[in-house]
Amino acid sequence: MRVGDIAIGGDEFIVMAGPCAVESEQQLLDTAISVVRAGARILRGGAYKPRSSPYSFQGLGVEGLKILSKARQHTGLAIVTEVMSETDVEVVAEYADIMQVGARSMENFSLLERLGTCGRPVLLKRGMTATLEDLLRSAQFVVACGNPDVILCERGIRTFETATRNTFDVAAVPVLKTVSHLPVIVDPSHAAGVRALVPILARAALVVGSDGLLVEVHPQPDNAASDGDQSLTLEQFDTMMRDLDPYLGLRQASDKSCVAAGGIN
Ligand code: PEP
Ligand code: MN
Repeated sequence: MRVGDIAIGGDEFIVMAGPCAVESEQQLLDTAISVVRAGARILRGGAYKPRSSPYSFQGLGVEGLKILSKARQHTGLAIVTEVMSETDVEVVAEYADIMQVGARSMENFSLLERLGTCGRPVLLKRGMTATLEDLLRSAQFVVACGNPDVILCERGIRTFETATRNTFDVAAVPVLKTVSHLPVIVDPSHAAGVRALVPILARAALVVGSDGLLVEVHPQPDNAASDGDQSLTLEQFDTMMRDLDPYLGLRQASDKSCVAAGGIN
């Protein structure tokens, strides 16, 4: 799948990085300049934020989209950002290169149908209680409505374990890559919930054949408006990227073995 000059689901391991939420021009530009230097190809940042409390920061909306577009101009990074509602699809598609559907919206079927005609690739996150079949059925809504460009994202599921925010379902990657032709990426940040675990989950994702990552990075995580605990600092992101280098060869090897393994069940 192509996004500008970027091929997702091909030979290159594509890293998407940036803050959970767009907070200011300075915050986003500082992050963008740093992540592009470290090797990221796509900038993430939410302008519309699904929050579990109505009293939490809800995102900057259109102002956030404009800041994302400035960062693209400045760095050449493509933009991925969340769209929460059918009524926002048009405006988000005006600014974004990839439309993110959050875990909480994976079963918003009218949103998925509308994304079938949005003219942009869709990054579909697995719902926190969704099976892989549920995820694939949601992807089919987008595809059946006319948009073949869907990227699947494993971001951890709810289990009885409380040591991590969610449980990274590592088998989801080879299973999805075996039963579907769609690119599969992993979001280690929402799986971990704490920044110390993000690099090692990222490494695990890479070696099981993920096509890329979606990682939260913030210039000052302790002051972040959302998800600061799981956001890497700019330096930590740079280190994580360097540490992934030796594993890139293993990713290719694992891709071949997972295709050879055949279907599920
Ligand atoms: C996010 O990417 O910031 C986000 C809200 O993720 P999820 O939908 O996976 O919870
Ligand atoms: Mn987040």
